[in-house]
Amino acid sequence: MANIVAIVGRPNVGKSTLFNRLTESRKAIVHEMEGVTRDRHYGKCIWNGIEFSVIDTGGYVKRGSDIFASEISKQVELAIDEADVIYFMVDVTVGITELDNVVSNLLRKQNKPVIVIVNKVDNSKLYMQAYEFYSLGFENIVFVSSANGSGTGDLLDMTVVNFKNTKEENKEDEEIPKFTVVGRPNVGKSSFINVLVGKERNIVTPIAGTTRDTINIRYKKFNKDFILIDTAGLRKRTKKMEDVEFYSVMRSIRAIENADVCFLMIDATEGIKSQDLNIFHLIQKNHKGIVILINKWDLIEKENKTAEEYRKEILNKISPFTDVPVLFTSMLTKQRIFKALETAEKVYENRKRKIKTGELNEYMLPIINQNPPPAVKGRYIKIKYVTQLKTYYPTFAFFCNFPQYIKEPYKRFLENRLREKYDFKGVPIEIYFRKK
Ligand code: GDP
Ligand code: GDP
Repeated sequence: MANIVAIVGRPNVGKSTLFNRLTESRKAIVHEMEGVTRDRHYGKCIWNGIEFSVIDTGGYVKRGSDIFASEISKQVELAIDEADVIYFMVDVTVGITELDNVVSNLLRKQNKPVIVIVNKVDNSKLYMQAYEFYSLGFENIVFVSSANGSGTGDLLDMTVVNFKNTKEENKEDEEIPKFTVVGRPNVGKSSFINVLVGKERNIVTPIAGTTRDTINIRYKKFNKDFILIDTAGLRKRTKKMEDVEFYSVMRSIRAIENADVCFLMIDATEGIKSQDLNIFHLIQKNHKGIVILINKWDLIEKENKTAEEYRKEILNKISPFTDVPVLFTSMLTKQRIFKALETAEKVYENRKRKIKTGELNEYMLPIINQNPPPAVKGRYIKIKYVTQLKTYYPTFAFFCNFPQYIKEPYKRFLENRLREKYDFKGVPIEIYFRKK
């Protein structure tokens, strides 16, 4: 189940400052991969064991203080549609403005939980002033200083009560692989879903969606049993909305967070674009399995090596995480549709793979002894043992004397050795170094 928080509010109230504060703690925990540029508008936060996504909607609005009410309204409406909890941020040093009223009016008309965040409450004098915002008429209100962090604990406590803990989720549901199809508009996502479920009778059971804008379809055929999460094609949007980057990002995030394995669909006639790479990194950041489908392959004029060259080009773009299946499909001719499903099932299994600590050390320690991490400042770094953590995606902890000195290239070296021996194709791996 996806837990998404969207921060809305007029410019300069401190949305991005709060966003950074909430998502940086997480960054410190997971040592986010270097080389993957950090998304400034989308990140993860974890509080009391509950993980959720944070989106700074302001990041998707043109900067400048002369922002129009219509523009901010659009952002707020999208946030209402796609988020589970809305942070409505205001600024105590400025007081209630006309734009704040515009946002309030929109938020009061809907049922999603709203938390009013009165920001820049840096001292007790401002604290008294902050009470003014109760006049906006919202139940949940919290005074914070995004700059120094005060009040953010209360905010997070107030936030996570709105989320379902993943542990409470239906057990049976968890054992059935959940797949989804993501990609830019017009690449063929709906066609794929139609080919899979459209004309087949008696094999499709729609399951009540977890949210009103997600349909989960239970699919059973040829010994395959999986749930297809369909967020696309559900509500007809105006063209204007489809053009909003924020909208497609939100929608992809929701689909990705609900899935175990994501088909990233790319239009063969267009190749991989920066927006495709953004989605790729979203999947990776969420530790979900990935299968890349190069669709509309029927439209490509082929010679001997066309597919191989195409594959190389794709892998080059998604580097350094290249241990990913790439398939060439056509929804028109139905080429490799079942292959795609089989591959997703394989990736699902790979993602669940657990390696016993004894076996893991027997394999990794000799490799590490032969190629130890380079010494730093005259200190030898000694990795003593490794174990796979009990997370629902592959995470390995290497215990050593100076974890802080181990750099990205060595981490990648370890990851590659793991991938050589064990099949983690399509699955992002997390590696930590811990002090021992
Ligand atoms: P956004 O446009 O809503 O994303 O706002 P920013 O996060 O860019 O912040 C706008 C300005 O307010 C920046 O100069 C921040 O340094 C400042 N700011 C943000 N939070 C606080 C706060 O808690 N206290 C004070 N005094 N300034 C803040
Ligand atoms: P979506 O926006 O990603 O859901 O894309 P659609 O499934 O709506 O497909 C967009 C257009 O591409 C439609 O006109 C489809 O008929 C067409 N299309 C989808 N898959 C293929 C394919 O494999 N080959 C060809 N030639 N056209 C395709």
